Parts: sequence; C-alpha cells; structure tokens
Amino acid sequence: MVQSMAKHPNVQAIRAARAYTIDEAANALRINEVTIRAWIKCGLPAMTTSRPFLILGEDLRGFVLDRRAKAKAKLSSDELLCLTCKAARKPFGMLVDLHLQNGKTARLVGLCEVCGGTCSRMISQAKLGDFGGIFDLGTNAGLQA
Ligand SMILES: [Zn+2]
Repeated sequence: MVQSMAKHPNVQAIRAARAYTIDEAANALRINEVTIRAWIKCGLPAMTTSRPFLILGEDLRGFVLDRRAKAKAKLSSDELLCLTCKAARKPFGMLVDLHLQNGKTARLVGLCEVCGGTCSRMISQAKLGDFGGIFDLGTNAGLQA
C-alpha cells in the first residue's frame, strides 16, 4: 500500500516547539521522506552535524508556508520573481536580459527595483514578442550604455 501523498502538507500537524527526524517530519506531513531530504538540500534548516538529522518544527512550518506562498505568487505580465524579496517585482528601469534556453523557453533576468537583487522569470519563447513590448530586452551580450 503506497502512502497517499498530500497535495498540501498540513502544517497544523507540525508542533513548532519540537524537533523532528526526517522520518517523523515525513509522517507528520504525510509526504515522502525523499521530499524532506530534497527540502533540506533546497534550504530547509536542519541539524545535520550528527544522525539522525533533526529539523525544528518551527523551521519546517516556515519552509512549507514559504513554498506555498511562492507557488501562489502570480506574476503580472510586467513582473519578475525576486529571489531576495521572494515576491513579484518590476525590474529596475524595466530592463531585462534575455537568456534563451533550449528551443522552447527563455529566462528574463533583471534587477529588483526594491532590493536591487536578481529577479527572473521563465517564459515560453513563443511569448517573446509579448514580453518584448513590455520590457526593454537586452541580450546575453550585455547592454550598451
Ligand atoms: Zn527584491
């Protein structure tokens, strides 16, 4: 019997004041241990100096809620996602560098007008025309002053 995977892990099941092993955290959230391990690699704070690794309930809750907020962050056509603010932001001066990926997608990279950090967005190359009308698109070669 495969354990059913919760689409939205229930953070209410996590007690902020206790520490969880990976196994306990996975059980409490009813998700796979592999997911918890992946989260640790993606920045979920864990005490990894000795085994078993321990995760503070408070950190676990915060991480899940943060991921949820990011997943919900809907970008308007003139916004990128700022990695520092973790929010939708307009790029400074509406300037973005265009990085073409494989044949289908492109990454728009700009500087957050709020914090100055990197903000980016993946788009379909089919929509380049639309975004070209909104942003001032540079290329990998860099912008000439
Ligand atoms: Zn920012």
